[in-house]
Amino acid sequence: MKKIKIAQITWQPDKDSSIPIYQQIVQYIRNNISNGEWPVGTRLPSQRDLARLFKVNRSTITSAIDELTSYGIISGNSGAGTEVISNTWSLFLPPVTDWNKFISAGFFQENNSIVQTINKLEFEPDLIRLGTGEIDPRLFPRKRWQKTLHTLETKITSLGYLEPLGLLALRKSLAKHLNDRGFEIEPDNILITSGSLQALQLISASLLQQDSTVFTEAPTYLKSLHLFQSMGMNLSGIPMDESGLQYWKIPINNGDMKNVLYTIPTNQNPSGITMSQERRLALLKFCLDKQLPIIEDGAYQELCFEGSSPQTLKNLDKNDMVIYLGTASKTLAPGLRIGWVVASKPIVRRLGDVKMQIDYGASSLSQWALSEFIDNGFYDEYLDCLRKELKSRRDRALNSLTKYFSKFATWNVPSGGFYIWLTFKNKIKIEAFFEQAINLGILLNPGDIYDFKHDHSLRLSFAYVTGDEFEASIKKLSEILDK
Ligand code: PMP
Repeated sequence: MKKIKIAQITWQPDKDSSIPIYQQIVQYIRNNISNGEWPVGTRLPSQRDLARLFKVNRSTITSAIDELTSYGIISGNSGAGTEVISNTWSLFLPPVTDWNKFISAGFFQENNSIVQTINKLEFEPDLIRLGTGEIDPRLFPRKRWQKTLHTLETKITSLGYLEPLGLLALRKSLAKHLNDRGFEIEPDNILITSGSLQALQLISASLLQQDSTVFTEAPTYLKSLHLFQSMGMNLSGIPMDESGLQYWKIPINNGDMKNVLYTIPTNQNPSGITMSQERRLALLKFCLDKQLPIIEDGAYQELCFEGSSPQTLKNLDKNDMVIYLGTASKTLAPGLRIGWVVASKPIVRRLGDVKMQIDYGASSLSQWALSEFIDNGFYDEYLDCLRKELKSRRDRALNSLTKYFSKFATWNVPSGGFYIWLTFKNKIKIEAFFEQAINLGILLNPGDIYDFKHDHSLRLSFAYVTGDEFEASIKKLSEILDK
């Protein structure tokens, strides 16, 4: 039978020392482990006994044990006593660094707490994700992807760092793909990024100033992040109507020259609204008059269900006012972490130079794979299937809402993308509803995350769930509301 060694303790912390007591305890236990006194498997007394032996409060013991557990030196089992589990690499960790002090010191703001909860719960296998901004993994084009990877087996001969703007082959594939859709660009007008989020980060770090204002639709996806605010910028929400952003409400004076407009004109996240052609032209004229540059987020540009997609602002712009962002995340796979910036060459070079200082390029493997997937025609074929599937899911979702939610709420009818923006007719406590839905196994995205004011809306997504799953969830939610 294994003989359990119990740590013998006669030492006590020095209460007059300037070193906090819990840190003295951490150091004492580390020393005993590192000098071999307490080998792996040694059992520490229970927390209650430790408090008695050291003559300190139980909470002091808890802090010390938590810290040692976080280093992986002991197991955090408080009941029967903790055990020494490692005495090698873990002991190289900084002796008594209190990371808690650093946690709120960085300039990046914390995520909204509901967003943090959603980010965590999205990985609970039993929860139905009714608001998620991601395509159903069951729609991933597995066969086409397998063939693509198979071709790459011989094509990729090394995976080195790439040039600052990203893999030339991918920039060529994208230039062709985009030029077929009305762009007039060369591969050097494209910078490959690690997703569109990184593009936004690069723009904020390289082109904007600390007190710049970013005007944007209200509600907007951008409000769910603190990306610009963390850099000291303001976010200002501009209302929309069914034709899109009401640009004439942007409070800007001629010649401010430090502000920018961020817009998602096609299948907007979260409202689902698509800006009309007339509004696009008028917005461009307004921005030209006011010298207000535009960041156009085209994440959902290729997901229009009826006819072809509207012209992008970038295509309509003849004055280099627009920086266009694209991504493979909403059409194909967010895990590729591939996005692209389309802009004038000096802007692309500047962003590329900053990107080299941040991560030295997006994954080469992902870039090769996407390039091949586009060149062999799979991307276009697959997009056709995806649009049809999303359209049918949208129709099913709208039918379910009409059946179960008509008395409770109103909603928009999106002509593409992922989202239905739903607003309750009566004020409801959205946080409580969010919790109740979780108890029923449904994860929601409350509208407050995206809006500039408290609202009574939900962002629903028909992209992640089938029509049947959507209907079953909506039925359950209507039962909560009935009560
Ligand atoms: N822009 C919009 C409008 C989005 O909805 C998202 C993802 N939710 C992103 C950008 C970020 O995408 P990526 O995965 O490319 O960083």
